[in-house]
Amino acid sequence: MPELPDLTIVAEAFHAALAGRSITSAAAPAPLAVRGTPAELQALVGQRLEAVRRRGKFLILELDGDRAVVNPMLTGRFQLAAPEARQPTKTAVVLGFGPRSGGPSDAAPWTSGAAWIPEDTAASEVRYRDPTQMGKVYLLPAGVERSVPGMGEEEQGPDADDPELTLDVWRGRIRRHPGELKNLLRNQAFVAGIGNAYSDEILHAARLLPFRKRSSLASEEIDELYAATGSTLARAVDILRARVPPTFEQQVRDFLAVHMKGGQPCPRCGTKISEVKAGGFVTSYCRGCQR
Ligand SMILES: [Zn+2]
Repeated sequence: MPELPDLTIVAEAFHAALAGRSITSAAAPAPLAVRGTPAELQALVGQRLEAVRRRGKFLILELDGDRAVVNPMLTGRFQLAAPEARQPTKTAVVLGFGPRSGGPSDAAPWTSGAAWIPEDTAASEVRYRDPTQMGKVYLLPAGVERSVPGMGEEEQGPDADDPELTLDVWRGRIRRHPGELKNLLRNQAFVAGIGNAYSDEILHAARLLPFRKRSSLASEEIDELYAATGSTLARAVDILRARVPPTFEQQVRDFLAVHMKGGQPCPRCGTKISEVKAGGFVTSYCRGCQR
């Protein structure tokens, strides 16, 4: 499942590659992935892409008229490709982009001069692919009220990497959530963007067990969890910037310390990593160094 680090890379890269270009074609080979009418999809053609952003686990395309929001859920992936490149199977939505006169002035510095950014004169395509078709592409035409499940005021807290999520804000928000730490981190209403993989990583970094209750934490442990959240996500974003492009459709997870590494030695203490499966999700942690 794409989480904050994965989608941050896609958003920064697609913004650098595509902002300033107009949509030249819009197709939905798997129309069930689209929340919106065929007419609304066609109405994207001719609109200029102003920005690509991430919010929580959503990718947002800001056009000069409408907006499109993608929730990739478990298996949704994004590809940036030349129009003539072979389209992968299970492609759900394809947006074609035309030439532009210069890239955006606010592109992320790491994208500067990247070889995978199409020439300004070249056409390009974004393909959204989803083998399980659980993800959705929400079309939000200007003036149309359409709710995006998971994006409501009450449903989504601040992004886990939002600079306004200070330690004081964290201490205040976490009080409302007495339950298990893994569930707490994955709860988008607490902070947005963390899922099954990075919750395991953050808890390992904070040396806290996933099934421990927040109500049992000492105040220093609450602060450690805050620090581990910031450092774990920032480190992952740094690594992914170097490793993901140009295959944005690949999820790079091999550098993680514990998630899905059950049976392997913990990189910090050498204890064999434990793995628990519940509700279709794997939780990985170390009994040796997490308390
Ligand atoms: Zn360990």
